[in-house]
Amino acid sequence: MASTLCYNSLNPSTTAFSRTHFSVPANKELPLDASPLVGYKCSLGCRTRKQRRKVMYVKGAVVEAPPSVSPSSQDGSGAPSKKSLRVLVAGGGIGGLVFALAAKRKGFEVVVFEKDMSAIRGEGQYRGPIQIQSNALAALEAIDSEVAEEVMRSGCITGDRINGLVDGVSGSWYVKFDTFTPAVERGLPVTRVISRMVLQEILARAVGEDVIMNASNVVNFVDDGSKVTVELENGQKYEGDILVGADGIWSKVRKQLFGPKEAVYSGYTCYTGIADFVPADIETVGYRVFLGHKQYFVSSDVGAGKMQWYAFHKEPPGGVDGPNGKKQRLLKIFEGWCDNAVDLILATEENEILRRDIYDRIPTLTWGKGRVTLLGDSVHAMQPNMGQGGCMAIEDSYQLALELDNAWEQSIKSGSPIDVDSSLRR
Ligand SMILES: Cc1cc2nc3c(=O)[nH]c(=O)nc-3n(C[C@H](O)[C@H](O)[C@H](O)COP(=O)(O)OP(=O)(O)OC[C@H]3O[C@@H](n4cnc5c(N)ncnc54)[C@H](O)[C@@H]3O)c2cc1C
Repeated sequence: MASTLCYNSLNPSTTAFSRTHFSVPANKELPLDASPLVGYKCSLGCRTRKQRRKVMYVKGAVVEAPPSVSPSSQDGSGAPSKKSLRVLVAGGGIGGLVFALAAKRKGFEVVVFEKDMSAIRGEGQYRGPIQIQSNALAALEAIDSEVAEEVMRSGCITGDRINGLVDGVSGSWYVKFDTFTPAVERGLPVTRVISRMVLQEILARAVGEDVIMNASNVVNFVDDGSKVTVELENGQKYEGDILVGADGIWSKVRKQLFGPKEAVYSGYTCYTGIADFVPADIETVGYRVFLGHKQYFVSSDVGAGKMQWYAFHKEPPGGVDGPNGKKQRLLKIFEGWCDNAVDLILATEENEILRRDIYDRIPTLTWGKGRVTLLGDSVHAMQPNMGQGGCMAIEDSYQLALELDNAWEQSIKSGSPIDVDSSLRR
């Protein structure tokens, strides 16, 4: 395995060209420290990394009507030529920002409407770290290798340690997942966990202040066949050529496209917390899922001497805890479970524990209509068990930008206007 690893990490031919099924821009050589070998392991004190900047807040500004759609030429600079197609994005979560970045890198004009940039990526107050897995890191590399590198540098590698399922009471392993070997053998980056705030900051900076309109709640849109007009809560209207609804599980864009449909309650409520706690086996275990009857518990190293945990309990939705009641309740629910789980609850302050009910949506093959399409949780919200909701939003973003670009190239070749509707349906 070591030789495979070295080859993938150090052979220039594998970094200069696509290491995955995602095509990496040819002019961007992937830096060596973006490779699985050179990434650092976030154990103990050496993992501490201060956030460099505060989250970016962007003021809204009225955007003028888009120029007419016509093919434009390369300017010879090597940068993508400006393509006069204005893409409106509802939602500046992981999906909205990554798509905006991908579309911008392809040369499209993009405007992102985000109702509350400070809410931190759809998770609102639940601003815990997020696991970005190999598939999504590879897609991000293909979109913008420098951004991917920054994300990987800022993340805590968990994919190189033991991860898997254990018995909640005894703590003994049921199954161990090797996420490292399959990733490295395919030349994929190794899974990381990263703070949602840091991720948002990196993405927002790369997308650009001029592109993101904060405090912009999309409440309506009109697709007249030749353009789409977005209406904000404050009454302002913006025109574009397409609208991408990346506005999360409770998407207003989806509701308007396909009518109201209830999200599906998973049957579980979920408590989360972050503890200043370094387990004795931190060097060998990345994340662990403790299983039990109608309850389970997940712990993950998130770097900087902190552990994140999720405690799931089967019960009807809408439950509320009394003042200072969360920790007490959890200690009761998980009474008798192994120390690896209980220690984390004990090490967490009451005010650091948050609770929400977990919902998802039934998958659909129809993601849009006309000049409007959906992306990420707005169309395929899933439960957090796979740690793939955000990752899939990143893959969606890569593919959608690619389809738009292909349609644009096709329009140049054929001399006819870009076929927006078909490109959004592929
Ligand atoms: C407990 C838990 C743990 C998870 N862990 C992982 C994990 O480890 N890895 C992983 O990949 N996924 C994980 N997920 C899933 C992940 O959080 C979501 O799949 C991901 O955030 C979806 O991204 P999105 O951009 O589609 O939507 P969101 O992140 O929900 O972003 C939507 C954005 O749209 C904005 N918005 C909403 N309505 C409007 C409007 N009308 N106008 C303007 N803006 C609007 C919101 O403010 C938000 O910023 C987890 C989920 C949960 C609940």
